Amino acid sequence: MSLLTLSDVSAFYGASQALFDVSLSLAEGEVMALMGRNGMGKTTTIKVICRMLPIAGGDLRFDGHDLRPLPSHRAARLGIGLVPEGRRCFPNLTVRENLFATARPGEWEMERVTGLFPRLEERRNQSAATLSGGEQQMLAIARALMTNPRLLILDEATEGLAPLVRQEIWDAIRQLKLQSGMAILIVDKSLRELGTIADRAVILQRGSTVWSGHFGDLDETVTNAYVGV
Ligand code: ATP
Repeated sequence: MSLLTLSDVSAFYGASQALFDVSLSLAEGEVMALMGRNGMGKTTTIKVICRMLPIAGGDLRFDGHDLRPLPSHRAARLGIGLVPEGRRCFPNLTVRENLFATARPGEWEMERVTGLFPRLEERRNQSAATLSGGEQQMLAIARALMTNPRLLILDEATEGLAPLVRQEIWDAIRQLKLQSGMAILIVDKSLRELGTIADRAVILQRGSTVWSGHFGDLDETVTNAYVGV
């Protein structure tokens, strides 16, 4: 059964329409790459899923629940964990406080997330503001995991990071796929890295779904036309 379903979803910023009939469906445990060039609607789609932007039309369901009337904290409580673009940790809280601020009971607790990101254990009593960009990204992922989501959404989690740190983040995401049954919706610019974890892909062009299918079926014609690599 599908865990997350968007059917013909439309959304606006004020009078300006940003999404036109976006459809996608993600099963439990599946990894989906949400792709498209800059400004094509990836983050907007994520905002709609997380109920941070009103939905103007279409249907939006998570585990059978109608998400449309729900505020963002209720969507989170149903099991949608977001790692937002730009990380957004609480800068004045320590690493530990950041992790517990939104934690919910489940298999992902302090020991398990610091097993995935040992650096967070070393920095547990430091304020988030003193962390490097890569460490802040690890914290943002760890914090989302500690909400024990059934769906983890990663929006440009490796953006702007040095190559070695980027590798650490990708290794952690690959471990997540192997060791947890979590569904993952991921936006990232690296086709090569996405190819190591994504089961399926959806491509957006000017706010519309223009391609969806198995990641392995993406060919150069499609990526050249819509992803621009
Ligand atoms: P990027 O990789 O650059 O983040 P994206 O695919 O995530 O791109 P979105 O951020 O979803 O794209 O933007 C989709 C469209 O909505 C763009 O035309 C963008 O200019 C517009 N948009 C995004 N945020 C706002 C906003 N707060 N107010 C008005 N328009 C916005």
